[in-house]
Amino acid sequence: MRKDISRIIIAIDGHSSCGKSTLAKDLSRMLQLTYIDTGAMYRAVTLFALRNNLIVNGVVDVPALQSRIGEISIELIKNPITAKVETHLNDENVENEIRTLEVSSHVSAVSTFAFVRKRLVELQQQMGERGGIVMDGRDIGTVVFPNADLKLFMTASPEIRAKRRFDEMIQKGEEVTFDEILENVKTRDHIDSTRTESPLKKADDALVLDNSHITPQQQLDWIMARLKEQGWI
Ligand code: C5P
Repeated sequence: MRKDISRIIIAIDGHSSCGKSTLAKDLSRMLQLTYIDTGAMYRAVTLFALRNNLIVNGVVDVPALQSRIGEISIELIKNPITAKVETHLNDENVENEIRTLEVSSHVSAVSTFAFVRKRLVELQQQMGERGGIVMDGRDIGTVVFPNADLKLFMTASPEIRAKRRFDEMIQKGEEVTFDEILENVKTRDHIDSTRTESPLKKADDALVLDNSHITPQQQLDWIMARLKEQGWI
């Protein structure tokens, strides 16, 4: 019997800038599922901290952030015109602001704190409880939805990931160099994989996808084939 795709939970984890969101968006469009970008939520908390001077000289004022965490409200809202999901922080659309190199440079530090993770994980579990979602991040298959129906662990070489992110940022008009993007990718990998709270690691039952040398269309086809094999489509 065919399984009910409208209730599926797909968890995509992996390294920074390896195309998780491209695949998640493609899959959600193809299968009419809701896309939940958990990295955007950690970025929104980081933007809040930066705007409120809770990060000074790169150091997070932990007690201050902890005492103000309740003031942070995050929503992922589909833009009715573009159909893209956009991040709202306290009712303000911050989709562009959370993608800057400044936010990228501090987000992994902010993501190490248990009180930040606890709040966001609860929110993510609520957002996905009814299923019908593709969620991407670092701990989705291990912590947020350990019983997800399909788990993917994505990776690609740091240079290839940095090049993709660099091209994206240049296109948006950001003044960045390839070297600083590569440095940011490597630093985030290191912090994300070595932190005590929910480090980035492959769930035992996750399928591994190295997309260094395949196109977005090929990776989509690969996952669609897996879903077919498993009786979802
Ligand atoms: O996915 P993205 O690169 O936008 O995520 C930004 C950062 O947020 C990651 O480098 C990581 O530090 C953090 N993050 C996390 N857990 C998640 C999603 C993102 O710690 N589930």
